[in-house]
Amino acid sequence: MLNIDLHCHSNISDGVLPPADVVARAAANGVHALALTDHDDVAGLAAACTAAKAAGLTLIPGVEISVTWSGQTVHIVGLRIDPAHPELAAGLNGIRLGRLERAQRMGADLARSGIDGAYEGAYDYAVNKEMVGRTHFARWLVAQGHVPNMRSAFRRFLTRGNPGYVEHEWTTLENAVRWIRASGGMAVIAHPGRYAFKPRELHLLLDAFRTLGGEGIEVITGSHHPSEYGKFADLARAFGLKASRGADFHAPGEGVDIGQLPALPHYCRPVWQGWPELELQFPHSPD
Ligand code: AMP
Ligand code: MN
Ligand code: MN
Ligand code: MN
Repeated sequence: MLNIDLHCHSNISDGVLPPADVVARAAANGVHALALTDHDDVAGLAAACTAAKAAGLTLIPGVEISVTWSGQTVHIVGLRIDPAHPELAAGLNGIRLGRLERAQRMGADLARSGIDGAYEGAYDYAVNKEMVGRTHFARWLVAQGHVPNMRSAFRRFLTRGNPGYVEHEWTTLENAVRWIRASGGMAVIAHPGRYAFKPRELHLLLDAFRTLGGEGIEVITGSHHPSEYGKFADLARAFGLKASRGADFHAPGEGVDIGQLPALPHYCRPVWQGWPELELQFPHSPD
């Protein structure tokens, strides 16, 4: 069976490895097809693609777009996108423009709680200066000894109701799905188990997403507890969505590693069903 991982990050967003190293790690872990899905940027895809050719792995061009829907942040993964598509590129550029100003407000909010220098610290951690995010703040908070680990960085800071969290308006669900589809890609709802929606709201989200032309939902992700896999597999089926699998890898030793999660439940329709790049590379695989 093919090992397919369709969600991970390089240091173009909030991962720590350069894109080529992410691909090499995936190959070493036995992954056959990998989607690099950096937040709001596609700048790592060219290097990832070159590395994938050398490693004999199929690279699926991807992105993870930050969206505000019903007052909450939702992440939409785009798979098999064309990173050069002007509408997608312009849309992502617009999202990145808002990130630096947001990071400054986060730093100011932490300063009000007695933590100085966080903005500068997070900025230093970001390789791509357009992509400063909460993970960079979290890594700095850990390194400075304010918290023992990433988990408590997000429990005590950076999340709603805690120091370092600021409201921010990302793009709309409609825009994200439109840009992905305009560039030839497939839109997938990332880690649905992470959102603080009530069941009714989550159903509204899935309905709206389907109506806009969204096609998939992550069922097996590093953000889901194994006890949740069945629930999201059932939701995928109920809403006519295909199922995706991805570790959401960011850094060695942080969360799940690439390609290390269980396979999709057998009754799921995988997002990769019928993708010609997999048929060409792995013609006799049952998946
Ligand atoms: P941002 O896009 O700047 O709001 O940052 C979002 C990123 O923060 C996510 O993609 C994760 O990498 C990270 N993150 C959010 N919540 C947590 C958490 N509870 N534990 C670890 N990482 C988290
Ligand atoms: Mn992230
Ligand atoms: Mn995400
Ligand atoms: Mn992610």
